[in-house]
Parts: sequence; C-alpha cells; structure tokens
Amino acid sequence: MALKITSTGNAGVFLENAGGGVYIDSFFHKIAGSGSGPAFRGSQARKADLILISHAHPDHVDPAETIAAAQASGAALAGPAAAMRLFKGRLPDGRLIELESPERQRPPSTASARMGGVSVTSFRTYHASGHNSYLVEMGDARVYHDADNEHASRLNPAALGQIDLLILCPWAGSGAERFVRALAPAHWLLCHLTDEEILAHQAGKFLPGLVDPVPPGVLALAGGQSLEI
Ligand SMILES: [Zn+2]
Repeated sequence: MALKITSTGNAGVFLENAGGGVYIDSFFHKIAGSGSGPAFRGSQARKADLILISHAHPDHVDPAETIAAAQASGAALAGPAAAMRLFKGRLPDGRLIELESPERQRPPSTASARMGGVSVTSFRTYHASGHNSYLVEMGDARVYHDADNEHASRLNPAALGQIDLLILCPWAGSGAERFVRALAPAHWLLCHLTDEEILAHQAGKFLPGLVDPVPPGVLALAGGQSLEI
C-alpha cells in the first residue's frame, strides 16, 4: 500500500494514491488558539476526486477558499447538510454531495457516496449540530478521520475494520485512548493542534497527561509536511 498524506493545517489533510485524491477540512479560517492556520490556498489545490467537510465551523471550512479549491482540483464537495448549504448555487448541484444521517444515535448513523476510485462513509458523530467523521477507502488504503468528534468511545472500532491511518485529536474525556487501543490502526496522526502543540508533540511533551499509556509512533505533521505510508 502506498498512500501520501499531506497536512493542510489544523484538522486538514490531503490524501493521494493510485485510487485518487481526497481533501478533508483543508480550506478554512485561522482561528486564534484553535489550531494551526491553513497551509494552502484553495487555488493551489491539486487534482482530486472529493473535498470532504466535517462540519460548518470556520476552523474547518472557508466557503470562498473551498470553492476555489473545487475549481482548481475538479473535485466534488461532500459534507453534512449544514456545510453543503454554504455552497448552494455557487457550484453545480452535481458537485455537491450531502452526507446527512440522523443525529444523536449510538452508535452513530452513517451515509455513503462514491466518486471516481474513492468511497466514503460518513459517521454522524458528536460535536455541535451536523458533524461527520469519515471512513475513506481509496485504492487499497482505508483511512478514518474523526475531525472534532467529542465521543470517540461511542464508535464501535470493529465496525470500522482494519484502518491503515487514523486521524484524530484526543480531546480530554472523549474516550479516545480506549477507541485507539481497540482500533489498533497501523498509523495514527494527531490533528487539530496549534503550531506550539505540534512542536511539543515532536519533543515528546504533548500526549503524556492526555493519553495514558501513550501509544508508540503517534505522528503530528506541521502544515505542508507530508508522510508516505
Ligand atoms: Zn474544530
């Protein structure tokens, strides 16, 4: 399996392999104290199949930059209804995919879509109103991005199957450590960190105190940094 992951800042990533290209939460506003800023302008977006949006908060989506990214990449946009409303009439309907399923269910309800060589399953997870986590299957890679989910422990790791890459921020009290241990992903990338937190993590100082025991090999990428697995 070959998958290239590029941090696009805050909770954002760009995933690319032979199966296609997928952006998640990549074009957004910098909010002081809420994570690192965007690493790329929308107009710099590479060829892609999908741009996924977890929810309509500004540190996850900037509508103008996201439209520029859709135009530059040729990708369709997908996300919960509250996020898709931001683009109504601003892109052709055929390039807006609503991934909306009922809220407040345990385990979370799901919806799915396919675009080119990419399949995506949304999980209606828990943060504000209208928040999706995503399972992305592209080529032979399976990636799970948990975005701002505040209750990782309400997901059934067995329902996700073998995960090559987990992207998650371990909010205090989210139950993330139990979820991560049960999921046992091949790779785990932290997201939604400030520049200072990324530096602290790279010095071994961020996770102790948040996660116990600290799993080995947890990565955090600064905006613009890439990793191949
Ligand atoms: Zn956020």
